[in-house]
Amino acid sequence: MKVIVLGAGIVGTASAWFLQKAGHEVTVIDRQPGVSQETSFANGCQISVSHAEPWANPGAPLKLLRWLSKDDAPLLFRPRADWLQWRWGLKFLRECTPDRAAHNIRQIVALAEYSRQTLQALRAETGIEYDCETRGILHFYTDPTEFEQSLAAAQLMRDLGCPRHSVDADEAVRIEPALASIRSKLVGADFTATDESGDVYKFTTGLAQACEQSGTRFVFNTIVTRLLTEGSGTSSRIAAVEVIDAHGRHEQLKADSYVLAMGSFSQPLAKRIGIDLMIYPGKGYSATYMVKQPALTPTVSLTDDGHKLVISRLGNRLRVAGTAEINGYSRELNEVRCEAITRRTRELFPNACDYENPVYWSGLRPMTPSNVPYIGRSRYSNLFLNTGHGTLGWTMGCGSGRAIADIVSGRQPVLNFEFTGETRHALTPPLISIPARG
Ligand SMILES: Cc1cc2nc3c(=O)[nH]c(=O)nc-3n(C[C@H](O)[C@H](O)[C@H](O)COP(=O)(O)OP(=O)(O)OC[C@H]3O[C@@H](n4cnc5c(N)ncnc54)[C@H](O)[C@@H]3O)c2cc1C
Repeated sequence: MKVIVLGAGIVGTASAWFLQKAGHEVTVIDRQPGVSQETSFANGCQISVSHAEPWANPGAPLKLLRWLSKDDAPLLFRPRADWLQWRWGLKFLRECTPDRAAHNIRQIVALAEYSRQTLQALRAETGIEYDCETRGILHFYTDPTEFEQSLAAAQLMRDLGCPRHSVDADEAVRIEPALASIRSKLVGADFTATDESGDVYKFTTGLAQACEQSGTRFVFNTIVTRLLTEGSGTSSRIAAVEVIDAHGRHEQLKADSYVLAMGSFSQPLAKRIGIDLMIYPGKGYSATYMVKQPALTPTVSLTDDGHKLVISRLGNRLRVAGTAEINGYSRELNEVRCEAITRRTRELFPNACDYENPVYWSGLRPMTPSNVPYIGRSRYSNLFLNTGHGTLGWTMGCGSGRAIADIVSGRQPVLNFEFTGETRHALTPPLISIPARG
């Protein structure tokens, strides 16, 4: 079968890999000159199965209100005259109830665990080098109340099979000695040894090369403008995709099936053919620094709870990422936010990196209100969705690619997840159980 994948981020590229493995003839289209140039470019790089709590949780509404007017708040909702933003916001609030949050966490953990296993298998199979660190994720706290509350979150993760254990400040510094400089401020941490980190851009680029070697075609500098439909009711389908090619010419490309994996931009494209995806961009920032003193720079991936930053060592670079603005599609850099990241990183690891020459970046997380992505069949029989991976697209990307390839091929994915469309109803008991460890 001929399959066109729309979007070459981590999700589209992983989809392409598993689709061609399943024997399909795959073409991937992207508006950028290469893969992984938008949100999958310079993110926090954590594979964090054990930190699957979505932004929508019972404590979120109050925090959001407190942060509403602060320019450097970790999560900022800037109200706009934008109907989608308001609808998204209301649905977000609905996902904050304890029941919905618990349901969403279970979904995300199941997909994230499946995805990590898939990533590990892919790494072994392809040998892709991507500055991978398998030393776990340490989430540290400087506020006693937040640490107190984290004990319940860690217990929930253990109940779901993730070995996330709370540790005291001394143990935190033993696990990551680079935290010694802030030992007096630490109140505790939780640690998951099985979590990982690695450069999503390098990985996706390596995977795309492996795809090309196996016959997948990548068409770059090509903008997807429209999905053309035919038929009606239950027999409606996608007839072709309209694109503007690298020379500015309109063209129609045809396939038997289409996979929509355009991150935040899946929403406006799908809307035009009557599919109402609840995806809104959540802008985040990262800063990348060259390491000057390796011994003072962390290698265990870290989450700084107070500042909502994630920190990953990528070879001779340190990546620090975080913050979120629900404020439209602009990727403009806000200097206040950029400087706040550098100030905090310098405070945590003085003299470790070259803080005079940071490389700042911003990206748009494709956020659903629940942080659970759309994976499955749409109401057009040959259009499949793999989009809306929000804060965890790197963590969930490889597994999502594998699952959508199964669905496109008419197979049931080996994973207990509420897939979009008809496959959702086919699931009964857990088909993959998360092994309890630790
Ligand atoms: C600051 C920050 C930190 C993050 N940290 C982490 C982390 O530590 N761990 C984690 O798991 N996740 C993290 N994420 C989330 C993760 O980066 C995203 O969920 C993930 O990159 C989404 O991948 P994607 O393939 O769906 O989207 P994208 O990578 O955005 O890919 C979509 C592709 O579609 C293409 N496209 C869009 N519109 C068109 C069009 N009209 N025509 C043609 N092509 C088009 C784009 O060029 C792009 O290549 C972070 C995100 C941010 C912003």
